[in-house]
Amino acid sequence: MEIRRFKKLLVANRSEIAIRVFRAAHELGIRTVAIYSHEDRFALHRFKADEAYQTGTGKDPVKAYLDIEGIIQLAKDKGIDAIHPGYGFLSENAGFARACEKAGIVFIGPRSEILELLGNKISARQIAGQAQVPILSGNKYPIRHPDEAKAFCREVGYPVIIKAANGGGGRGMRIVLGESELVGRLNEAQRESMTAFGYDECFIEKYIEKARHIEVQILGDKHKNIVHLYERDCTLQRRHQKVVEIAPAQHLDASVRQDICNAAVKICKSVNYDNAGTVEFLLDTEKNTFYFIEINPRIQVEHTVTETITDIDIVKRQILISKGFPLDSPEIRIPNQESIQTRGVAIQSRITTEDPSNAFIPDYGRIQHYRSAGGMGIRLDAGTAFSGAIVTPYYDSLLVKVTASGICFEDAVNRMDRALDEFRIRGVKTNIPFLINLINHKDFLKGKCTTRFIDENKDLFR
Ligand code: ADP
Repeated sequence: MEIRRFKKLLVANRSEIAIRVFRAAHELGIRTVAIYSHEDRFALHRFKADEAYQTGTGKDPVKAYLDIEGIIQLAKDKGIDAIHPGYGFLSENAGFARACEKAGIVFIGPRSEILELLGNKISARQIAGQAQVPILSGNKYPIRHPDEAKAFCREVGYPVIIKAANGGGGRGMRIVLGESELVGRLNEAQRESMTAFGYDECFIEKYIEKARHIEVQILGDKHKNIVHLYERDCTLQRRHQKVVEIAPAQHLDASVRQDICNAAVKICKSVNYDNAGTVEFLLDTEKNTFYFIEINPRIQVEHTVTETITDIDIVKRQILISKGFPLDSPEIRIPNQESIQTRGVAIQSRITTEDPSNAFIPDYGRIQHYRSAGGMGIRLDAGTAFSGAIVTPYYDSLLVKVTASGICFEDAVNRMDRALDEFRIRGVKTNIPFLINLINHKDFLKGKCTTRFIDENKDLFR
């Protein structure tokens, strides 16, 4: 068994997730390296690493984190052993993973062929189907002509959802209620996909109207061992993007929970998955049946809730797996599935610098005053969040993630409510008032929400 030595680890990302990875690396005694764009020269992640280097030309704030050649060259020059890609940016880019491999640098994530297979939702659906996990009726190939789309929708019946095959973050997705809007929506989805992902390939899937989003955290090593770390409920979404996440899912039949977790492991075993990943499902609440939707082959924003209930540091395990340790090693300490137990309930809220009273328009500028929450059962994962920090318009608007835990759901909700109330953020608008409305809503407390809950309840925005 070959175990790699990591002396220096670079995070090809920014903000809270970069800081999250630095913490894990630090605890493992690995020296940390940040990259930052010109626009991020005052961002906190830069100062949280042992070394930091500017990337990009200073003209394109996003490209600084997408510049494969530049990042690899920097990594070679600085003697980097491993790169953690975080989420977003290059995290699911098979070309980047391959470039790392070629340069003799360990990419902390699944093998590049896995990224290739799973990055495309059409091929991921095929893999799930082959593993005999239920999938929704959907196209097997990208749609080439509107007539194909029409014929397919007539066959499966409306409503349907058009999705970008290479999509993510809720982009390139359109719900279609009837044939009259099909072609228009298809064009929109294809255009959006082209702009966001550089490909316009789209497919159509049957739309579940009353769905819950349940996903399973997976950990696999390089020795064919795979376990799940149970599920998260990410039903609370705004425009297909998660807002509040819960682990474990409440009001879920024990048998359905078991079947979903087993299905996730089955798919991952079928491709010999390694490192951390998340298998996402939709639960049709009317039929109590579930369907695979996609696999995210990377760490996710909401991994904190799983860490809280299992007491397993997922990011640390990602690094150790990449070094070559098997799950049952003394370093990773997951001898088998049965060794993973959950305790209590955890909820995560994503505090963003968006104005809920004005269509969630992102707000920018100087944070004049910042006082964060604390106390028992509260974990904070923040980006550049402090008095005097500047919020720029160039990146996503996540400011700080709040994870509240408790012995039961009610306990965790009460802590979250108290923590959200403790924040004092002046100078930029945040979505905190909306989050407070959301977690106190009677339907949320009763576990009655579906994925459309936020979009259909405009009174939450006041
Ligand atoms: P992305 O990769 O952009 O996050 P996903 O395929 O994971 O896209 O879907 C994101 C969300 O969109 C889901 O959690 C769900 O709310 C909604 N969604 C996706 N597919 C369907 C479907 N077939 N029926 C109902 N809702 C869906």
